[in-house]
Amino acid sequence: MKKFKMLVGGKLVSSNSGKTFVSLNPATGKPLASFPSGNESDARRAIDAAEKAGEKWKKVPPPKRGMVLLRFSQLLRQHKEELARLIATEMGKVIAESRGDVQEAIDMAEYIAGEGRRLFSFTTTSELGNKFAMAIRVPVGVCGLITPWNFPVAIPVWKLAPALVCGNSVVLKPSSDTPLCALRVVQLLREAGVPDGVVNLVTGSGSAAGKELVVNERVRAVSFTGSKEAGLWIARNAGIKKLGLELGGKNAVIIMDDADLNLALEGVLWAAFGTSGQRCTAASRVIIHEKVEKKFEKMLVGKAKKLRLGAGANPSSDVGPLINRAALEKVHRYTEIGLSEGAKLLCGGAPAKGRGFFYKPTVFSGVTPKMRIAQEEIFGPTVSIISVSGIDESIKVANSVEYGLSSSIYTKNISNAFKAIERIEAGLTYVNSSTIGSEVHLPFGGVKHTGNGAREGGWTAVEEFSELKTVYVDYSGKLQKAQIDEFEGKKKK
Ligand code: NAD
Repeated sequence: MKKFKMLVGGKLVSSNSGKTFVSLNPATGKPLASFPSGNESDARRAIDAAEKAGEKWKKVPPPKRGMVLLRFSQLLRQHKEELARLIATEMGKVIAESRGDVQEAIDMAEYIAGEGRRLFSFTTTSELGNKFAMAIRVPVGVCGLITPWNFPVAIPVWKLAPALVCGNSVVLKPSSDTPLCALRVVQLLREAGVPDGVVNLVTGSGSAAGKELVVNERVRAVSFTGSKEAGLWIARNAGIKKLGLELGGKNAVIIMDDADLNLALEGVLWAAFGTSGQRCTAASRVIIHEKVEKKFEKMLVGKAKKLRLGAGANPSSDVGPLINRAALEKVHRYTEIGLSEGAKLLCGGAPAKGRGFFYKPTVFSGVTPKMRIAQEEIFGPTVSIISVSGIDESIKVANSVEYGLSSSIYTKNISNAFKAIERIEAGLTYVNSSTIGSEVHLPFGGVKHTGNGAREGGWTAVEEFSELKTVYVDYSGKLQKAQIDEFEGKKKK
């Protein structure tokens, strides 16, 4: 088994803890690589390095920072197949989706490279003569980027690219399930020309290395994607710093009685079982009009039973493994909860026989909105069918969860579509499409317990990683007093 190191200040280093952990192939359960168990003092070393290197990086003109990211996007493109195979092996998603993960990173790096020549802010008027007013973007400082395993290349790049173009230096703490993918991303950034210390990689647990990034006052922004539980802890302990939180989901597909059921079927299969249900935008609820429920259930179960489970790297696999044994146990626990709550198991409901962490695509019917399987994030290939009598009830059920990330409605009725767009409490709503399919140039994020209002992607990505500084230039040669002098054309007393 290969042994890898962390990257701090441009040097490959072991952990001060002297300990290591192992990354596994979830399709076999066998070890892939060993990494240092970075602890609090390792995170502090990385913060030191980032602070020092950040002084120079913030002075590099933004278009030049953008050019480094453009080179990075080209390197990602050159290494797309290698990275996709790495994702399929370390994280387990099927190869077509693994290529999609890398493509998302390429798109993001390419899009954000252009921000080097924008980083738009604004100029405006002044209430006083001979005075100029504007707001400019400045870097935040050292950013802590804490990422999950389910998009092991795309999510780090969604954070790294905007953080870097805005002139920040960073410490990346990836999930301990996918450190190999993170290391490869960071190596390519260096090859693209990011100076030593501007990007640092600390591997290790969230409760040691991750925690230090959250509580350390020299870290000026934390961008976190992960579970609601960890997000809540971070919100309570980060102190005064910029905070981006992208948390869990309990996304729904609504199917009305006038929907094209074949189209809806494709959308549900993709949203419920793609990435084995381990996407924050995965649909784990189908809210369906009672008139078409039975017909749709039959169609869904027929297809779900035929999905082929297999290693991500095997091109004939439809559904890959879950990330680890704990995830397999959690998903199965929810099957037992569903059964105990009185839901009807239509298919799946068990781990697949053999090696690795595979779980059979699982469909429950007869689910009511308050059941735990309809409320809690399962993060596996389990979908609950909830029957409703019309559009108003469907939206009420869709909104009856604590999360609000993605949502979708299948209908041919424009009024139903617009009611859903207007009333569903979610950061994303798709009409006649699955809950999955975000593009990098639009804002991405959720409401309620899914997030704290930050939006990744699009022009909003730079909001998370820059501060606005307001600048007034007074060229009148005298002291002018806002709100006091010459307001509304009259001298105030
Ligand atoms: P997780 O919360 O267990 O871990 C995420 C990262 O946070 C890991 O790197 C972990 O080591 C670190 N971490 C954990 N506790 C921490 C703490 N107290 N302080 C600092 N760091 C800490 O999540 P996961 O299992 O890796 O990912 C799955 C979750 O991520 C799901 O809930 C999923 O919905 C969510 N997710 C959300 C989005 C989104 O954009 N909303 C995208 C992908 C995944």
